[in-house]
Amino acid sequence: APTVGVLALQGGVAEHLAMLQSLGARAVRVRSVSDLLGDHDAPAVDALVLPGGESSTMDRLCRTFGLFEPLQRVIRAGLPTLGTCAGLIMLSTRIADPAPGQQSLGVLDVTVDRNAFGSQVDSAEVSLPWAGTAGHAETDDDTAMTPSGVVRAAFIRAPSVTEVGDGVQVLARYRDTVVAVRQANVLGISFHPELMGETTVHEELLSMVRTGANA
Ligand code: GLN
Repeated sequence: APTVGVLALQGGVAEHLAMLQSLGARAVRVRSVSDLLGDHDAPAVDALVLPGGESSTMDRLCRTFGLFEPLQRVIRAGLPTLGTCAGLIMLSTRIADPAPGQQSLGVLDVTVDRNAFGSQVDSAEVSLPWAGTAGHAETDDDTAMTPSGVVRAAFIRAPSVTEVGDGVQVLARYRDTVVAVRQANVLGISFHPELMGETTVHEELLSMVRTGANA
Protein backbone atom coordinates (compact mmCIF):
# COMPACT_ATOMS: atom_id res chain seq x y z
CA ALA A 1 0.00 0.00 0.00
CA PRO A 2 1.26 3.52 -0.71
CA THR A 3 2.27 5.69 2.23
CA VAL A 4 0.64 9.12 2.19
CA GLY A 5 1.85 11.87 4.49
CA VAL A 6 -0.56 14.51 5.78
CA LEU A 7 1.10 17.76 6.85
CA ALA A 8 0.04 17.92 10.50
CA LEU A 9 1.25 21.26 11.84
CA GLN A 10 -2.19 22.86 11.87
CA GLY A 11 -5.68 22.37 10.44
CA GLY A 12 -8.01 19.51 9.57
CA VAL A 13 -5.69 16.50 9.58
CA ALA A 14 -7.74 13.63 11.04
CA GLU A 15 -10.37 13.49 8.29
CA HIS A 16 -7.68 13.16 5.61
CA LEU A 17 -5.93 10.37 7.53
CA ALA A 18 -9.22 8.50 7.91
CA MET A 19 -10.19 8.91 4.27
CA LEU A 20 -6.78 7.77 2.99
CA GLN A 21 -6.91 4.72 5.26
CA SER A 22 -10.40 3.90 4.04
CA LEU A 23 -8.95 3.86 0.49
CA GLY A 24 -6.26 1.36 1.50
CA ALA A 25 -3.32 3.73 1.90
CA ARG A 26 -1.01 3.91 4.89
CA ALA A 27 -1.59 7.44 6.19
CA VAL A 28 0.98 9.13 8.42
CA ARG A 29 1.33 12.55 10.01
CA VAL A 30 4.17 14.78 8.78
CA ARG A 31 5.32 17.15 11.49
CA SER A 32 9.07 17.27 10.99
CA VAL A 33 11.73 16.97 8.31
CA SER A 34 12.45 13.40 9.45
CA ASP A 35 8.77 12.49 8.83
CA LEU A 36 9.08 13.83 5.27
CA LEU A 37 12.55 12.71 4.25
CA GLY A 38 14.20 9.33 4.66
CA ASP A 39 17.69 8.20 3.74
CA HIS A 40 19.61 10.39 1.27
CA ASP A 41 16.94 13.08 1.57
CA ALA A 42 14.55 11.04 -0.59
CA PRO A 43 10.86 11.41 0.30
CA ALA A 44 9.74 8.99 3.03
CA VAL A 45 6.19 9.10 1.64
CA ASP A 46 4.67 8.25 -1.77
CA ALA A 47 2.28 11.21 -1.75
CA LEU A 48 1.44 14.21 0.36
CA VAL A 49 -1.69 16.05 1.52
CA LEU A 50 -1.66 19.67 2.71
CA PRO A 51 -4.92 20.08 4.65
CA GLY A 52 -7.27 22.99 5.22
CA GLY A 53 -6.81 25.31 8.13
CA GLU A 54 -5.32 28.78 8.11
CA SER A 55 -2.70 29.25 5.45
CA SER A 56 -0.63 32.03 7.05
CA THR A 57 -0.35 30.01 10.28
CA MET A 58 0.55 26.87 8.32
CA ASP A 59 3.18 28.83 6.39
CA ARG A 60 4.71 30.23 9.57
CA LEU A 61 4.82 26.80 11.25
CA CYS A 62 6.38 25.24 8.13
CA ARG A 63 9.21 27.73 8.31
CA THR A 64 9.57 27.35 12.10
CA PHE A 65 9.92 23.57 11.76
CA GLY A 66 12.28 23.81 8.77
CA LEU A 67 9.77 22.13 6.46
CA PHE A 68 9.31 24.92 3.92
CA GLU A 69 12.33 24.19 1.66
CA PRO A 70 12.13 20.38 1.98
CA LEU A 71 8.44 20.48 0.99
CA GLN A 72 9.23 22.73 -1.95
CA ARG A 73 12.03 20.40 -3.07
CA VAL A 74 10.11 17.09 -2.92
CA ILE A 75 7.03 18.56 -4.61
CA ARG A 76 9.15 20.15 -7.37
CA ALA A 77 10.86 16.77 -7.81
CA GLY A 78 7.46 15.20 -8.61
CA LEU A 79 5.91 13.90 -5.38
CA PRO A 80 2.14 13.56 -5.95
CA THR A 81 0.60 16.26 -3.76
CA LEU A 82 -2.94 17.38 -2.92
CA GLY A 83 -3.68 20.71 -1.24
CA THR A 84 -7.15 21.48 0.06
CA CYS A 85 -8.26 25.01 0.92
CA ALA A 86 -5.42 26.47 3.04
CA GLY A 87 -3.28 23.70 1.49
CA LEU A 88 -4.10 25.05 -2.00
CA ILE A 89 -3.01 28.51 -0.85
CA MET A 90 0.26 27.01 0.44
CA LEU A 91 0.94 25.40 -2.96
CA SER A 92 0.18 28.48 -5.08
CA THR A 93 2.69 30.77 -6.76
CA ARG A 94 0.73 33.96 -6.01
CA ILE A 95 -1.61 35.00 -3.17
CA ALA A 96 -3.71 38.04 -4.12
CA ASP A 97 -4.42 38.96 -0.51
CA PRO A 98 -1.61 37.53 1.66
CA ALA A 99 -1.41 38.06 5.39
CA PRO A 100 1.55 40.26 6.37
CA GLY A 101 4.76 38.35 5.60
CA GLN A 102 2.88 35.32 4.25
CA GLN A 103 4.78 33.12 1.78
CA SER A 104 3.67 30.19 -0.33
CA LEU A 105 5.57 27.22 -1.74
CA GLY A 106 5.14 28.33 -5.37
CA VAL A 107 4.77 24.84 -6.83
CA LEU A 108 1.35 25.32 -8.50
CA ASP A 109 1.16 28.10 -11.09
CA VAL A 110 -2.02 29.83 -9.98
CA THR A 111 -3.10 33.01 -8.24
CA VAL A 112 -5.43 32.46 -5.29
CA ASP A 113 -7.75 34.83 -3.52
CA ARG A 114 -7.55 33.59 0.07
CA ASN A 115 -10.92 34.57 1.32
CA ALA A 116 -12.91 34.74 -1.90
CA PHE A 117 -15.84 32.74 -0.62
CA GLY A 118 -15.66 34.22 2.85
CA SER A 119 -18.84 36.22 2.71
CA GLN A 120 -20.68 34.67 -0.24
CA VAL A 121 -20.68 31.05 0.82
CA ASP A 122 -19.34 30.93 4.32
CA SER A 123 -20.14 27.26 4.53
CA ALA A 124 -21.87 25.69 1.55
CA GLU A 125 -22.24 22.08 0.47
CA VAL A 126 -22.60 21.61 -3.28
CA SER A 127 -22.14 19.08 -6.08
CA LEU A 128 -19.66 20.04 -8.80
CA PRO A 129 -18.85 18.48 -12.18
CA TRP A 130 -15.36 16.98 -11.85
CA ALA A 131 -13.03 16.67 -14.84
CA GLY A 132 -10.60 14.16 -13.41
CA THR A 133 -7.84 12.33 -15.23
CA ALA A 134 -10.28 10.45 -17.42
CA GLY A 135 -11.92 13.71 -18.44
CA HIS A 136 -9.06 15.17 -20.43
CA ALA A 137 -6.96 12.43 -21.86
CA GLU A 138 -5.25 13.54 -25.06
CA THR A 139 -6.55 17.10 -25.12
CA ASP A 140 -4.22 20.03 -25.61
CA ASP A 141 -6.79 22.50 -24.39
CA ASP A 142 -5.78 22.91 -20.77
CA THR A 143 -8.98 24.63 -19.84
CA ALA A 144 -11.25 22.04 -21.42
CA MET A 145 -13.68 20.62 -18.92
CA THR A 146 -15.11 17.29 -19.77
CA PRO A 147 -16.83 16.13 -16.62
CA SER A 148 -15.85 12.60 -15.71
CA GLY A 149 -18.02 12.68 -12.63
CA VAL A 150 -19.39 14.79 -9.85
CA VAL A 151 -17.83 15.63 -6.51
CA ARG A 152 -19.63 16.67 -3.38
CA ALA A 153 -17.81 19.64 -1.88
CA ALA A 154 -17.97 21.63 1.34
CA PHE A 155 -16.73 25.23 1.15
CA ILE A 156 -15.47 26.76 4.40
CA ARG A 157 -14.18 30.34 4.00
CA ALA A 158 -12.69 28.94 0.84
CA PRO A 159 -10.12 30.49 -1.49
CA SER A 160 -10.74 30.83 -5.23
CA VAL A 161 -8.32 30.47 -8.13
CA THR A 162 -8.30 33.75 -10.07
CA GLU A 163 -5.46 33.09 -12.56
CA VAL A 164 -4.24 29.82 -14.05
CA GLY A 165 -0.81 29.46 -15.67
CA ASP A 166 0.08 27.47 -18.80
CA GLY A 167 0.00 23.75 -18.16
CA VAL A 168 -2.55 24.02 -15.35
CA GLN A 169 -5.73 22.04 -15.95
CA VAL A 170 -9.04 23.20 -14.52
CA LEU A 171 -10.80 20.25 -12.87
CA ALA A 172 -13.82 21.99 -11.35
CA ARG A 173 -15.63 25.29 -11.20
CA TYR A 174 -18.23 26.52 -8.75
CA ARG A 175 -20.56 28.80 -10.70
CA ASP A 176 -17.90 30.63 -12.80
CA THR A 177 -15.05 30.38 -10.34
CA VAL A 178 -12.18 27.91 -10.65
CA VAL A 179 -12.05 25.74 -7.51
CA ALA A 180 -9.95 22.72 -8.56
CA VAL A 181 -6.78 22.50 -10.66
CA ARG A 182 -3.99 20.11 -11.54
CA GLN A 183 -0.47 20.82 -12.77
CA ALA A 184 1.51 17.61 -13.35
CA ASN A 185 1.94 16.06 -9.87
CA VAL A 186 0.14 18.83 -7.99
CA LEU A 187 -3.61 18.90 -7.29
CA GLY A 188 -5.20 21.92 -5.60
CA ILE A 189 -8.81 22.30 -4.53
CA SER A 190 -10.67 25.08 -2.70
CA PHE A 191 -13.08 22.82 -0.92
CA HIS A 192 -13.21 19.96 1.59
CA PRO A 193 -14.23 16.57 0.16
CA GLU A 194 -12.94 14.85 3.30
CA LEU A 195 -15.75 16.38 5.34
CA MET A 196 -18.36 14.96 2.95
CA GLY A 197 -17.13 11.38 2.71
CA GLU A 198 -16.30 12.27 -0.91
CA THR A 199 -13.43 10.03 -2.07
CA THR A 200 -12.94 11.08 -5.72
CA VAL A 201 -10.15 13.61 -5.18
CA HIS A 202 -8.15 11.35 -2.85
CA GLU A 203 -8.59 8.50 -5.34
CA GLU A 204 -7.16 10.81 -8.00
CA LEU A 205 -4.11 11.41 -5.77
CA LEU A 206 -3.62 7.66 -5.23
CA SER A 207 -3.97 7.02 -8.96
CA MET A 208 -1.17 9.55 -9.53
CA VAL A 209 1.01 7.40 -7.25
CA ARG A 210 0.18 4.27 -9.27
CA THR A 211 0.49 5.67 -12.78
CA GLY A 212 3.22 8.26 -12.28
CA ALA A 213 2.29 11.81 -11.53
CA ASN A 214 3.14 13.23 -14.93
CA ALA A 215 1.04 10.73 -16.90
N1 GLN B 1 -9.15 31.24 4.00
C1 GLN B 1 -8.34 30.35 4.78
C2 GLN B 1 -6.85 30.70 4.69
O1 GLN B 1 -6.47 31.79 4.42
C3 GLN B 1 -8.52 28.92 4.36
C4 GLN B 1 -9.76 28.35 4.99
C5 GLN B 1 -9.78 26.83 5.03
O2 GLN B 1 -8.76 26.15 4.87
N2 GLN B 1 -10.95 26.26 5.33
O3 GLN B 1 -6.04 29.85 4.93
